[in-house]
Amino acid sequence: MSKSENAGQRPHVAVFPCAGMGHLLPYLRLAAMLHSRGCAVSVISAHPTISDAESRSLSSFFSLYPQIRSLEIQLLPLKRNPRFTNDDPFFIQRESIGNSIHLLRPLLASLSPPLSAIFVDFPVLTEFSPIAADFSLPTYTLIVTSARFFSLMAHLPRLLEQEDDISKKSEVCVPHLDPIQVSSIPPQMLDRRHFFVETITSNVASLSYLKGVLINTFTWLEPEAVEALKRNGVDHILPIGPLEAIKAEESDMDLPWLEEQAPKSVLFISFGSRGAHTKEQLREFAAALEKSGWRFLWVLKSGKVDREDKEETEDILGSSFLERTKNRGVVIKGWADQERILAHSAIGGFVSHCGWNSVVEAAKLGVPVLAWPPHGDQRVNAEVVEKVELGLWVRGWGWAGERLIGRDEIAEKLIELRNDERLRERVKEVREKAREERESGGISETLIRDLIHSLKIK
Ligand code: UDP
Ligand code: UDP
Repeated sequence: MSKSENAGQRPHVAVFPCAGMGHLLPYLRLAAMLHSRGCAVSVISAHPTISDAESRSLSSFFSLYPQIRSLEIQLLPLKRNPRFTNDDPFFIQRESIGNSIHLLRPLLASLSPPLSAIFVDFPVLTEFSPIAADFSLPTYTLIVTSARFFSLMAHLPRLLEQEDDISKKSEVCVPHLDPIQVSSIPPQMLDRRHFFVETITSNVASLSYLKGVLINTFTWLEPEAVEALKRNGVDHILPIGPLEAIKAEESDMDLPWLEEQAPKSVLFISFGSRGAHTKEQLREFAAALEKSGWRFLWVLKSGKVDREDKEETEDILGSSFLERTKNRGVVIKGWADQERILAHSAIGGFVSHCGWNSVVEAAKLGVPVLAWPPHGDQRVNAEVVEKVELGLWVRGWGWAGERLIGRDEIAEKLIELRNDERLRERVKEVREKAREERESGGISETLIRDLIHSLKIK
């Protein structure tokens, strides 16, 4: 098609997420938002996916949005890098995607109309950069962690140059940001020989070829961190959150029990898209839950990858717990549509691992959080929860497996969460601010509309 034939058409954009539901969902949400704001959209996905949740979400997404095009690459077998010692399947998938990224070349070359822009996930920015250059393709990313954690990532190369051994300090200073506790930083990030640091360092350097860095946060929620990013060299940061929910299938919310519960009476519990705690710790939590008197809806996972997670709820929590609490709560083993559950009027609290998507969902829907962050960026995200007064956090609970947190200690916090009237009022304010930024004329909405407007049709 010639340029003139294309004139007046909508911009065609593609999104390309990396591995794991915490990456796929926000990229699908972005895709749906770009579509509903007038773009023609393609979603590029890498197969086979690691989890069933990813493949199910993709097929349900394309049936709900038939105008959005699905483009697939089939991953090549991975030659393992001997320096790469991590056995986390989602990290190995990142390596595979990086290794197979040249498969995008024939795919991009075949697109008609050609792309006006692509949104590529941060972990593969470096590998994508020669493709962006060869195709002269305006490239953006969508960051799926907090602006606070991303500020730390962006400053990490300099920090590691300046400091001999950060792990001996109590806090680190990212310019223009209040100090970050060293105990909140994932230990792998402090080891300059760790491949995790290598990946961050090279992808941070690659930010400079991007036209814009979208992030799923909103200015009111993280004003200092957004400003710090601007001043520390990521001046093309675009806080466009909270992302809108994607449409849901009716069957995703088949929970008649929840419909019968009184407003704000149910505690929702989810530790993310994968198992986060040992069985012993989960049982301690179950005992605390019983003690607290909360009604509850618990979405339970026990393995890293759902395909391999065959353990039954009874075997994890014990059949006597389920029997005793059968009139007070429901445990769902596997996946449930968290955003729709959090939006339900019966939900009055959220025990969360503080994956950033979950924090933004809680903020947007005004649900008070008890933060229990066991891995990765989650403790820095919990610092945001605490600071903005979206919830409670006991720092001393530490990383996963550091120590067993006892039932009494947990029950006390669960009860505090239920009785904290001030928190209940505060989360309404947070929800209101999130809504304002998403509305027409709000900062987030203006940024995304301006971005779409700026896309030139090729
Ligand atoms: N999620 C969900 N159902 C589940 C578990 C997770 O809908 O059973 C969603 C959750 O709402 C969030 C995403 O999956 O949007 C997980 O991302 P997050 O950053 O919160 O945590 P991660 O799993 O990446 O650690
Ligand atoms: N991690 C984990 N369980 C989780 C989340 C993360 O074991 O629920 C580990 C993961 O294997 C990695 C580290 O924590 O070694 C950092 O994960 P992060 O959440 O930062 O990764 P991402 O969300 O970008 O995939």
